[in-house]
Amino acid sequence: MSDRVIIIGAGLGGLTAAIRLAAKGRRVTVVEKNERVGGKLNHLSAQGYTFDTGPSLLTMPWVIRDLFAAAGRRMEDYIQLDQIEPICRYTWPDGTIFHAWQRLPQLIQEVERLSPADVPALFRYLAHTATIYDAVADTFLLKPFDGLREVLTPRLVSDGPHIDALRSVDAAVRSFFRSPHLRQLFNRYATYNGSSPYRSPATFTVISYIELTEGGWYVRGGMYGLAIALAQLCDELGVELRLNAPVAQILLHPGGAARGVRLACGEELCAAQVIVNADPRYAYEALIPGQTAMARRMARLEPSCSGFVLFLGIDRTYAQLAHHNIFFSGDYPREFAAIFAKGVPAADPTVYVAASCLSDSQHAPPGHMNLFVLVNAPTLGERVCWEREAGPYRDLVVAKLERMGLTGLGQHITYEQIWTPADLEARYNAAGGAIYGLSSNNRFSAFMRPPLRARGLRGLYFVGGGTHPGGGIPLVLLSGRAVVERVIADSP
Ligand SMILES: Cc1cc2nc3c(=O)[nH]c(=O)nc-3n(C[C@H](O)[C@H](O)[C@H](O)COP(=O)(O)OP(=O)(O)OC[C@H]3O[C@@H](n4cnc5c(N)ncnc54)[C@H](O)[C@@H]3O)c2cc1C
Repeated sequence: MSDRVIIIGAGLGGLTAAIRLAAKGRRVTVVEKNERVGGKLNHLSAQGYTFDTGPSLLTMPWVIRDLFAAAGRRMEDYIQLDQIEPICRYTWPDGTIFHAWQRLPQLIQEVERLSPADVPALFRYLAHTATIYDAVADTFLLKPFDGLREVLTPRLVSDGPHIDALRSVDAAVRSFFRSPHLRQLFNRYATYNGSSPYRSPATFTVISYIELTEGGWYVRGGMYGLAIALAQLCDELGVELRLNAPVAQILLHPGGAARGVRLACGEELCAAQVIVNADPRYAYEALIPGQTAMARRMARLEPSCSGFVLFLGIDRTYAQLAHHNIFFSGDYPREFAAIFAKGVPAADPTVYVAASCLSDSQHAPPGHMNLFVLVNAPTLGERVCWEREAGPYRDLVVAKLERMGLTGLGQHITYEQIWTPADLEARYNAAGGAIYGLSSNNRFSAFMRPPLRARGLRGLYFVGGGTHPGGGIPLVLLSGRAVVERVIADSP
């Protein structure tokens, strides 16, 4: 058997694992079903507009620097990261506006303007979430684990009370802030991993701490530049990258150990170690033979939300827009009940709008803007027929943006594309179109994610947003670091 490692999927998780393995001298083949690398981090160009089709906000940029350093490279020789300030502009239906800054004096000024009584609360909140970060960083983020036994250490027992896992994000946020606007704003961070603030444990308030203390970042030229840079690094390190090469099956020895993959074209590639960057639920259902029970178990777990995306090229500018913008709904609990309990799109959704042309002028022709519009949506289910509902829902979202200040938007659209959860599923084989794998809607969710080492299948591993520590660019890159440690440790 060769010493090669096969990686299924050239998403950020697959590319990270490939780079780290190749840097350690392993022979690596990455097979990707699509015509381009990047997975959910991807891009679209048409009629002079350029859109990042997935992530638009980068947090924890040091994780990327660490990846380049592991390959003996300087990140700055491949990509330039720009900090975006303010991080985000928030608009409420009552006309309230708030700019979230990483620079503390400006952030305090904004909180004081909105709700003076909440200024001391902000300090208390940041101190509280800093404590959570200290307690979880090592155990859950930086060293993702394979099983409960690994984390049940004396350290976790002593840190346990600090991780605030017994109440919800919303309960924690309420205990600090009086302003309903600030409560909604801080609750929103639960959506960074596709979850509901009313059900996910308050541990996830740590996301706001990370963003507000480390800032929000952007890859100059477009987020897709990160995927291009990682692919270039793969090439320099001798990784074999095969595009348009969907895997049809993972090949196992009779005892259950990995022996390679069969591509859809029928070709077989041999390797004693196979890393799956594709969505684990999809992999158990479609790629790994004899895993019906595991596939059923995965299907019972609650997925993260999906997304309804509009790519709009418009022939005018809106001076009020920042690079990142949120247009809030009037009833946040109702919105999450629609998405997670009823499985339908929210009637009054919170709408995210990114205008990367404000940081990269070549992303839209002069006098035009490229608007990436994202609304949280339920994963695919019986309650929604997107073929029928995509058009009306697009109209509802555009009308909402018009009501909240983007006057006349509908009349200025010169380019448009709609992606529903069905498109996300089809493009990336993401079960139900889930953006972040499983949801974190209960306090045990971290223990329900499929582990980095596939259970009972020697030589088979997972990497990416579907495994530990979770979804989003930085966590996916940390997942790549962790899986490589396992692959190397298990190597003959
Ligand atoms: C609309 C949207 C907005 C987002 N916004 C943000 C954001 O602002 N900030 C942030 O940090 N994160 C964001 N994310 C999440 C982030 O994009 C993901 O967490 C991350 O890119 C996932 O990387 P991954 O490697 O785990 O998986 P993926 O990107 O899904 O990669 C898996 C790869 O496997 C391939 N594959 C699947 N099946 C097969 C097969 N059978 N054979 C071969 N290849 C296969 C797929 O084509 C894909 O390329 C967003 C995602 C979306 C969709």
